[in-house]
Amino acid sequence: DAVPETPAAVAAPSAKDRQFREGAEARPFQAEVSRMMDIIIHSLYSNKDIFLRELVSNAADALDKIRFLSLTDKSQLGEGDTAKLEMLLSVDPEQKMISLRDRGVGMTRADLVSNLGTIAKSGTAAFLEQMQKGGDLNLIGQFGVGFYSVYLVADYVEVVTKHNDDVQLIWESKADGSFAISEDREGPPLGRGTQINIYLKDSCQEYLQEDKLKELVQRYSEFINFPIYMLTHST
Ligand code: ADP
Ligand code: MG
Repeated sequence: DAVPETPAAVAAPSAKDRQFREGAEARPFQAEVSRMMDIIIHSLYSNKDIFLRELVSNAADALDKIRFLSLTDKSQLGEGDTAKLEMLLSVDPEQKMISLRDRGVGMTRADLVSNLGTIAKSGTAAFLEQMQKGGDLNLIGQFGVGFYSVYLVADYVEVVTKHNDDVQLIWESKADGSFAISEDREGPPLGRGTQINIYLKDSCQEYLQEDKLKELVQRYSEFINFPIYMLTHST
């Protein structure tokens, strides 16, 4: 007899149950980065919307970089969809996840290690100090650590990325002091660029609403020179 599928069987895992992918190389965050992430993930800051501004700004920077490279070497841009300088935002209600993808320059393994983890930027300590003095989290971008604001709304994040000089990789972390990088052999190929998968905290499920996201994209795309398309979830 067929066993009926229960809703529990398809429920998204919660962050605390998540394990790094098999074969992933776990690394500790640099100590200050780890402390900063701890403050962000536990923050009661109310203007959590700013995470999208920071991620859109990073995506725009990555698109600027590949556009610049392509000026001297047109082959860098690739062909077909890969050559389109755009961002794509999508919602996965089942996984309680939103994704921002760009077709920018992407990151190599070395880029991932140095940009998102083991090397503290000069701004990290300064930002930490500001936070401990009750400073405004809204200023995070000015300290060069805007990426980490994603942990205002997420308890688990994947950065899937493909640079022209490397294989497709996944960086993952639940902001508990360590991150891991592994080759992405299973995910759909990005061609080139980066996709941030944002697994929302239980308290931040409002970001699954397309109306809410559309409003935020409108607000934060005003000075962005690339189109941001929203892939809507038709039921
Ligand atoms: P900043 O943007 O001020 O450098 P962030 O914390 O926002 O600081 O980002 C850290 C770094 O991570 C960026 O400088 C960039 O090298 C890398 N990065 C972040 N997001 C992306 C992306 N979407 N594509 C490529 N690189 C990225
Ligand atoms: Mg940034």
